[in-house]
Amino acid sequence: FGTSAVAAEEPITPPVEVKHTQLLINGKFVDSASGKTFPTLDPRTGEVIAHVAEGEAEDINRAVIAARKAFDEGPWPKMSPYKRSMILYRFADLIEKHNDEIAALETWDNGKPYQQAVSVEIPMLARLIRYYAGWADKIHGLTAQADGAHHVQVLHEPYGVAGQIIPWNFPLLMFAWKVGPALACGNTIVLKTAEQTPLSALYVARLALEAGLPPGVLNVVSGFGPTAGASLATHMDVDKLAFTGSTDTGKIVLELAARSNLKPVTLELGGKSPFIVCEDADVDKAVEMAHFALFFNQGQCCCAGSRTFVHEKVYDEFLEKSKARALRRVVGDPFKKGVEQGPQIDEEQFNKIMHYIRSGLDSGATLEAGGDRFGTKGYYIQPTVFSDVKDDMLIAKDEIFGPVQSILKFKDLDEVVRRANATRYGLAAGIFTNNLDTANTLTRALRQGTIWINCFDVFDAAIPFGGFKMSGQGREKGIHSLRNYLQVKAVVTPLKNPAW
Ligand code: NAD
Repeated sequence: FGTSAVAAEEPITPPVEVKHTQLLINGKFVDSASGKTFPTLDPRTGEVIAHVAEGEAEDINRAVIAARKAFDEGPWPKMSPYKRSMILYRFADLIEKHNDEIAALETWDNGKPYQQAVSVEIPMLARLIRYYAGWADKIHGLTAQADGAHHVQVLHEPYGVAGQIIPWNFPLLMFAWKVGPALACGNTIVLKTAEQTPLSALYVARLALEAGLPPGVLNVVSGFGPTAGASLATHMDVDKLAFTGSTDTGKIVLELAARSNLKPVTLELGGKSPFIVCEDADVDKAVEMAHFALFFNQGQCCCAGSRTFVHEKVYDEFLEKSKARALRRVVGDPFKKGVEQGPQIDEEQFNKIMHYIRSGLDSGATLEAGGDRFGTKGYYIQPTVFSDVKDDMLIAKDEIFGPVQSILKFKDLDEVVRRANATRYGLAAGIFTNNLDTANTLTRALRQGTIWINCFDVFDAAIPFGGFKMSGQGREKGIHSLRNYLQVKAVVTPLKNPAW
């Protein structure tokens, strides 16, 4: 196997300590009501990092009571928006101050390259909180011109208690996408982290308290989906739910919300995004971008470009270069400099990905690179490339969520549009072309929430993100997220003297 990876057997000691393992409820770190804990594991070795308090129904209830009180009795929703904004700015400053420590915790618990966490993700976390700090004092209602002698105001008010459930692939970015807009709008929060990655959100939530966030405004509960997650989705006193995770769980959560108090739900779910390389594309650039689109974050991205469609005229060259690029990818301990790919999150995901690799082989796809585990310890997988992939193969249909690139050949634009859209998902698409007309045609024809032209995974705070079809409901980031956390109240008063 031709990568220059370091041995996964001798993990580097992470340059950080675990400070918080309890639940954060009402401004205090507390044990779970049952006293239960669960281990969170180092994906580099499978060894225990720490035992974390395991929140269940009773803890969710305690957290919702605290969030309700913080909402109803204030000061958060009633605080001057400027003051709220300043607290969020201070929060972002503290994140920046502790950037390296937070990044180390994220890498330890998740397995992502430290270089990526320290120089991209944690700065992005601060940027997202700042973006929403900027919105906190710029939320305006409307007035409406109604027929008749009435004065009409349309007020935008916070929902109340927001329940938020996040996944493990970008623990802190998902935290920011949820917490930033909800706080800016004056809501209070109960956030359930993913059971694989509970550590970084606890650390960062403590910084929010230090920044001046009143107790009970942000509560963080670690725990499992069917217990803590389901309790949050069914809770009668949660006013709004935002969920990011798999499409299957999204359906469960939506049903739980409907069966309880009909709380509105925002869903960010799975994907099987096409990355389309047209005949006129610069092949070297397209190879690099398609590689990044799939392998970034160990392939654990909801929007991963996991169906690489390549025009037949450039297919052979693209394939040879993609294979060579995958073989050059540096796999190893994510704390080591120069490492591009760390381990997968856990054994379950590791086994799922290996199952898909076997399925690719069994269904007749050609293995060009990788195809096996990397090393003997932890959950590392070799960067894997399949060619001759057909649309009906499982590897072209299912979300693999791992470092497995599937390359498919196409002849013309109508054909690639039809095939790219023939999926239950609709999260994102990449288009590689130098022809404006081709780019415009594909952009309009593709049924995806984000279209990246000659780029991929550009995630500025201002850009809305979300899916068509079974990739989700609603949008997060940008101005769109504010709408998720604001109720609309129409206020009508008669006018005594309509002439004025
Ligand atoms: P998952 O659906 O298993 O878990 C996500 C979260 O839901 C976790 O916190 C989990 O504990 C919780 N959960 C699980 N069962 C639950 C239940 N019955 N009730 C309430 N909560 C429950 O997904 P995962 O494997 O952790 O994450 C990977 C998936 O997330 C992928 O499908 C990926 O595409 C998707 N994802 C989507 C986006 C996006 O923005 N669209 C971003 C990241 C990940």
